[in-house]
Amino acid sequence: MPSPDAAARHTGAGVARRQAHHERMRDERAREAAAGDAELPPEDDAVEMASAAQLLDSVAEVGPNYTLLRSKETKAKRRKRQREDARAALDGHTVLSTGSRLEIFCDSERWYPATVMAREEDGDGRIAHQVEYDGYPDRRWWHMLDDERWRAVAEQAGTGAGGAAADGDGDAAMDRADGERGARAAGDAEAAEVRPAPPPVRRGVRRSALADALEAEDDERQEEAACGDGRPMLAPHGPALSVQLRRVRLRLREFLATQAAAGKSVPMQRTALGLHPTVRWTIRFGKWLATTRITAPRASRWHATERGDARDEEPTVRTGRGENTVYVALQHMKNHVWREIWPAMPDDARQYWRLVTKQVMSLYDGGGGGMKDAAGAAGRAAGREAAQESASHGQSEAAQRAASERASAVASRRTMAELREATTKPCTKQHLFQVGEYQMQDTQLMEPFEVNVAFIMNAYLCFARQTGHELPPLTMGDLSIAADELLRGLGGAGVMTEGDFEALIRMEVTFARKKGEYYACYEFGTAITPDSDQMMRIGTLAMVRLLLRCGSFRACYSKLSEASAAALRRKVAEPSGFAGLELADTGYETLPALVAACRADGWVLDKAALDRPLFPGVDEATGLFLFTESFDVQRLCRRLIETGRQLGMSRHKVGAWSLRKDACEQPASAGDGAVAARVLGHRQVNSRTMNRVYRADLRTRDLGAYWMRRDALGSVERAPLTSLSASRVPEVGGVRGFGDLPQACPERQAARSDAKVAEAVEEVASARRKLQRRLGVALLPKYFKASARAAGGGEEVDEYEAAQLRLRHRKGEAESDAVEAHQLRLYKEGQERLRAAPALRMAMLSTHAWAPRSEDDAIAFGLDRRDRTRELRMLRKLPAKLQGSILRVGALHVLPTAGTPAEVYGRVRRRSEDICILECGSEDCAGRPSIEWPTTVARFEERRCVHCGGAVRLRWQREPQAENAAVEPLAVGAAASLGESFRETYWAWYNLSARAAIGNAAYAAGAAATAKASASEAGDAPLLGAAVDELELDDETVAEAIAALDGGDGAPGCGDEADEDASDHRGASQEV
Ligand SMILES: [Zn+2]
Repeated sequence: MPSPDAAARHTGAGVARRQAHHERMRDERAREAAAGDAELPPEDDAVEMASAAQLLDSVAEVGPNYTLLRSKETKAKRRKRQREDARAALDGHTVLSTGSRLEIFCDSERWYPATVMAREEDGDGRIAHQVEYDGYPDRRWWHMLDDERWRAVAEQAGTGAGGAAADGDGDAAMDRADGERGARAAGDAEAAEVRPAPPPVRRGVRRSALADALEAEDDERQEEAACGDGRPMLAPHGPALSVQLRRVRLRLREFLATQAAAGKSVPMQRTALGLHPTVRWTIRFGKWLATTRITAPRASRWHATERGDARDEEPTVRTGRGENTVYVALQHMKNHVWREIWPAMPDDARQYWRLVTKQVMSLYDGGGGGMKDAAGAAGRAAGREAAQESASHGQSEAAQRAASERASAVASRRTMAELREATTKPCTKQHLFQVGEYQMQDTQLMEPFEVNVAFIMNAYLCFARQTGHELPPLTMGDLSIAADELLRGLGGAGVMTEGDFEALIRMEVTFARKKGEYYACYEFGTAITPDSDQMMRIGTLAMVRLLLRCGSFRACYSKLSEASAAALRRKVAEPSGFAGLELADTGYETLPALVAACRADGWVLDKAALDRPLFPGVDEATGLFLFTESFDVQRLCRRLIETGRQLGMSRHKVGAWSLRKDACEQPASAGDGAVAARVLGHRQVNSRTMNRVYRADLRTRDLGAYWMRRDALGSVERAPLTSLSASRVPEVGGVRGFGDLPQACPERQAARSDAKVAEAVEEVASARRKLQRRLGVALLPKYFKASARAAGGGEEVDEYEAAQLRLRHRKGEAESDAVEAHQLRLYKEGQERLRAAPALRMAMLSTHAWAPRSEDDAIAFGLDRRDRTRELRMLRKLPAKLQGSILRVGALHVLPTAGTPAEVYGRVRRRSEDICILECGSEDCAGRPSIEWPTTVARFEERRCVHCGGAVRLRWQREPQAENAAVEPLAVGAAASLGESFRETYWAWYNLSARAAIGNAAYAAGAAATAKASASEAGDAPLLGAAVDELELDDETVAEAIAALDGGDGAPGCGDEADEDASDHRGASQEV
């Protein structure tokens, strides 16, 4: 087992390749320097004009070499397939994914390249693959691959981190190479002699006069261009790249269409090989890409200038595409699209693309050269025009000059503003800092509903915090956990945490990363080490906790008989999902005993777990772990944004990048760029640090030391008051939908009186009138559509249906706009409040004070929780008041797992009758007998006191008071059925996330409808949520509230005193 300090393992020819790459780059730079700065070449005679309309016809949406999967597989279908595959794989059968490339050995003693197009489960449970051979596009064959001789072929170039093809017979198929290498690999293979057919005929290209003319004229030359190098012209692209390239082609067609509509023509460069667009025209297309956009981004509205913002600019709405989008499009044009459409593009077009890239990307330099040039050109043109205009009026030369200068200045200012608006970054992700990260982590540790997702999110938060990494496709086997003896052998590697407990676990995770463009395969070992003073927050433990939840340790099965171990393994591996390891299944008495056993076993993983994804997928509907897939990266990113939003942060400023920024920024701001670049795994820190990183000896870098502040690192704890946490407005997180908008709020009114909706309503009414006329009735009968169609009114029915659809869409739009506007207004009001009340800001910055505990206890924390994803869905089906009340007392155990709204209400009623009575809220009726639970939802909602007509309140029977007097007691039975960890964290969760779970409306209704526990019991617990509710609270009260809640001093340490030795902070219960 490698120790956490284990060397990065170099495999293959990585180092030599890197040196060769640097050599090439050096040569290229030298050549460039010799050639002088890149200038646009002079226009010359070889330029011919072609009409944009005709060119448009010759640009197909899809290249013949693209692999576009016919219909995008739905998630449900994908899951079904993956489950079938998992079953087949468990039985030892071969399974290949659709679109994977392979070669099959056929009777004529040759390897035939082919693509998997589909597959099906055969009668015997094995998987039959449908295969299309290259060059035989119209025919498909079914193969049982287990019975064939076949081998996998590397996936096509540039598709990024898609899974590489499976390995048929031990060939290295993991080579995810890019363009050049891919082509070479394909050429190297014996495939050269195999390639059966010339590139297939273009499908779907509309012939045009121009294209025909070009072909007739340049026949010989074009042909020469097509087969000049003796290599196939168009390498087939994988599905991911094909989709991207198609997008570029669509934009190109859009641009050509606008040019054609304006009757413009396209300058084409004539070369020895034929025609291709000139550099200038390609630049124009690039600039068009950069300055146009279809839908305006909403983020800009959320951009509030804050003191200390680096760019103190007015928020603007970006009207163009983003910088990265355009850069990627340029890369695709350079590497593929242009060559595909215009074979006459020279082989070495580097100068061409250098010019294009430079000119287009210069628009993004924030008022840099490109923008100024463009503005200058526009200004000069306007100036010339103004001078001519002035001259035509017979004005003096001085007057002409003045007019020209004036016009020129105006035009260039305007152009500058337009360009800035087109290319501005509307809103950027901000740092979370330690406070924000801890708050995000706390919500995951406390999550009572979506527990399995929370396990993954918590592990990922820690993982990203230390590695700065996006979610790479990792398997559990990529993680190795150091055994205690090893660490002890290293001389006391343990780290002391709060409460004088020792954190021992360290681990190393091994990535195969693609660094820059020149590491095809380079394995890194990255150490994950203890990174917090509080045991509960340590990253290594989060990873171990996830592994344990997934039943991945060998020791989980060691207490069981062979048969029951096999049964448990089957239960874990069940392709339809695994709910999480339960203590009862393992034969251990307690969770800490199970953890101790895994530790004693040296944290060895179960053999069956090695190939499972490190961050497994989770079924959204059931909350079960799916080891057949990895947790979706997009879902992970969305979830991070969502978590931040639920806490009340601006959703446009929080996300995965916030974590990565932190991971990189902290070492970087301490002046250690090498570590920063290393953390980020990117070369974008800057080239100097990159050089240092690659020369640095990675083995000696222990990031855990940074995180534990054992190395000097001044800025770790600094969380400026403009940070995401300090600007939290929890009410914003509670706006889940239109229902959460108060009746009287202006946004609701605006949505109700929306002009577009009114227009659509009018359209529906007029369509209805037409139908009435057609049927000759004043009131439409029940089956009016059918009768109208029968009466020849098909068109009217269509019109009516279209109008109704339009109305629905417009209503939806108006409502979602209103929700967004309401959120934004709450957020802005909240910012004002935060500015005015520093204590409130401190409250937003406070994190949960976890009880100190040992490493084993911290790992075991939360494993007693069952996933309640389904219960959350059922909760949301209940009447708002009941939702809020159930959360108000933590009575999650009354929720069923399935049912229609009526059934859910019925079940909740039956389970609650014993522990909750309904009573009248008014004082006059005190002492009257309780009200019976109504039998239906509708009656529950309208139920009033029969004596005074007052609102009905719910009085829950509560558990005996816990020792912490600051929190309310839970409903009877909650802790017993939901676990000790639930009792410990429920109220903290309620304060942080309950609004977001059910929405402000239900939250408030529930709080109002729930009777206090009793005067002698909890009394008025001054909770944070309540403190936020009371906007008039003065600073003192809020500070007191925090102090009462956490038992701390209410004044989180921040700023300069915060960077002293870690030990100084131990014991301070306010962990900030
Ligand atoms: Zn009453």
